[in-house]
Amino acid sequence: MMKEIVVVSGKGGTGKTLVCASFAALAGNAILVDADVEAPNLRLVVGAGRILEEHTHSDSEVARVDTSLCKGCGKCAEVCRFGAVTLDGVAVVDDLSCEGCAACFYTCPEKAIVMEPRINGRWWVAECRYGLIFHGRLEVGEGLSGKLVAVLKERARKQSGNYRLRIVDGPPGIGCPVLAALTGADFVVVVTEPTLSGLHDAERVVGVAQHFGLKVGVCVNKADLNPDMTAKLHNWVAQKRLVWLGELPFDETAYSAMANGTSPVELGGRLAAALQSLYRTVTQHI
Ligand code: SF4
Ligand code: SF4
Repeated sequence: MMKEIVVVSGKGGTGKTLVCASFAALAGNAILVDADVEAPNLRLVVGAGRILEEHTHSDSEVARVDTSLCKGCGKCAEVCRFGAVTLDGVAVVDDLSCEGCAACFYTCPEKAIVMEPRINGRWWVAECRYGLIFHGRLEVGEGLSGKLVAVLKERARKQSGNYRLRIVDGPPGIGCPVLAALTGADFVVVVTEPTLSGLHDAERVVGVAQHFGLKVGVCVNKADLNPDMTAKLHNWVAQKRLVWLGELPFDETAYSAMANGTSPVELGGRLAAALQSLYRTVTQHI
């Protein structure tokens, strides 16, 4: 069965996407899932191309007023705890404020309100340079991305074909979307930076992964910028009996290369060698 690696960090900007894109390049033929649906960018780095599937995602409802039935009595506005209804001759619902509780729907004496599915996000399956990428995007103002992440992962798991790995670029933080991203992982790669906050963030996300009994390894990005802190992180990994995955050196060119759609591992040099070593270590543990 295809193995799944989930790459996470306690916060954004630590190098998750750099690691995912490099793993994809090294695997050569992989399924990629960009589970950061609030700020997706993996597709830019891996050269997402032809779209094979396009879907809308809905996991809640929104109230709609049939203005031909509405008598403007205002009862719906009175029961709406979210201030989503105003009156302008007829009731008007503000989509962004509506929480879909349906109180207005049950209250309206004219049956002028219907509850409709709210489009919370969109997601796609596309070809990319290293296989397939499953990516999505939450609509503006939508805050619950965990369900969209779960949908992406479920669809990616069902993908047939001769792919070597499933690589998930996890969302930052430790909230519901991270839990959805971690579910079913064969190995969790925590990418952190050599700072106190990096250690704190890594502790939090490792705690979540261990709570679910997942195998966890830690790598330190930009390790050479703070060798003392990198050593502290190394000690912490040993104390926690996690897998030490190694250090990635800081390389400014990696980020400009990624912006141009090139995986850092294709650049050559110290960072590419460290990424290859990281990939080898991870694949030995799955
Ligand atoms: S309760 Fe019904 S009829 Fe009254 S304002 Fe609201 S939608 Fe219109
Ligand atoms: S569904 Fe709930 S939140 Fe939305 S307009 Fe009706 S009462 Fe307000």
